[in-house]
Amino acid sequence: MKNISIIGSTGSIGTQALDIVRANGDINVVALACGKNIELIEKQAREFTPELVSVMSEEDAETLRIKLADTGINVVSGMKGLCEVAAYDKAEMVLTAIVGMIGVEPTLAAIEAGKDIALANKETLVTAGHLVMKRAAEKGVKILPVDSEHSAIFQSLQGNRRSCQGEYNNKVSRILLTASGGPFRGRSRADIENVTVKEALNHPNWSMGPKITIDSASMVNKGLEVIEAHWLFDTALDDIEVLIQPQSIIHSAVEYEDGAVIAQLGTPDMKLPIQYAFYYPERRYLAGERLDFTKISGILIETPDYETFRGIPLAKEASRIGGTMPTVMNEANEHAVAAFLAEKITFLEIYDMIEYAMSKHTPQQDADLGAILAARDETDRILTERYGV
Ligand code: NDP
Repeated sequence: MKNISIIGSTGSIGTQALDIVRANGDINVVALACGKNIELIEKQAREFTPELVSVMSEEDAETLRIKLADTGINVVSGMKGLCEVAAYDKAEMVLTAIVGMIGVEPTLAAIEAGKDIALANKETLVTAGHLVMKRAAEKGVKILPVDSEHSAIFQSLQGNRRSCQGEYNNKVSRILLTASGGPFRGRSRADIENVTVKEALNHPNWSMGPKITIDSASMVNKGLEVIEAHWLFDTALDDIEVLIQPQSIIHSAVEYEDGAVIAQLGTPDMKLPIQYAFYYPERRYLAGERLDFTKISGILIETPDYETFRGIPLAKEASRIGGTMPTVMNEANEHAVAAFLAEKITFLEIYDMIEYAMSKHTPQQDADLGAILAARDETDRILTERYGV
């Protein structure tokens, strides 16, 4: 049996991860954490019998303690509770399936406690990649990508490189990071000026949580993923090329110095990368649809429209500047996406808010956790002051 903790168990990745646990029967869930969905986490706690559960507010924790009184499960709350779940002594691995840069502190807590990380929470690497990768290497813990593209890259590196953090055995010349292009692919700036939340949430290929779905529509998600790949695979930004692959069949690829391109292909199903991270390097049976090449009329590849969808250039600029700038870029996006979902700003204002926050920030290099959190808070403050949201 392998013992795991899951932070973000009630979300899209978290619930699919529990489907994997259910299907395999040899993973013991020792701790779970979520935000506000106490109804679902109560059901999960009864089914998977963890020893520890954490929720966001102490008020919800109190309600849950009463509901779970017959189980002996310990219920905690807040950031402290989240970090307790992440660092829970019996866990060997932590799945970080929480959304947003709130994942930074629990991920660092898990690494300090020597847990391997199955990492879905890309915002952690975007904002604190330098701290996370350094500390993971020092502690000898694995960072196993769950993001489908990064899992595809990781799978394409097998046999050519020891691990995400390990040295290259064979030289990679480029990472080819694919993107579906989202629901607004091919549209002009004027076309997307007045899109609704419902339209932006209508992703053509993937069913995901609301924040990442909006990020996919704006291509900010791909920008965050470029930074994520830069940290995970120790690859220069200029050696990461984004390609639009609208069918989401090629999940990403690696080009080696001899020109060979190795890619991972499959149907769009997050369970594959989640299961691969859980059992790496073992592959297991996974139920689901298989790719039928005889039914694919052609594999489409396009180049991104960087002028309309400014997510990638903004993220690359932030990463090139470095220090606290990627935190500002990420937090401005989190702030703007929340405002867009609440119908307080337009879709295009997401980019405006990111640009504005970045223009106002003086980056601090070699940022420690304190500087990263301060940059986050300052970003929220200046955006609220300027946009009133
Ligand atoms: P969801 O919105 O579906 O789920 C988010 C999870 O985080 C929920 O369990 C939520 O709890 C929890 N959460 C939110 N805020 C807090 C908080 N303050 N304290 C504790 N828990 C909190 O997100 P996704 O599953 O879509 O995404 C999770 C991460 O995985 C993101 O970083 C995303 O970019 C990444 N990812 C997701 C993919 C996908 O297919 N969904 C694909 C690749 C990467 P609750 O609902 O109870 O409030």
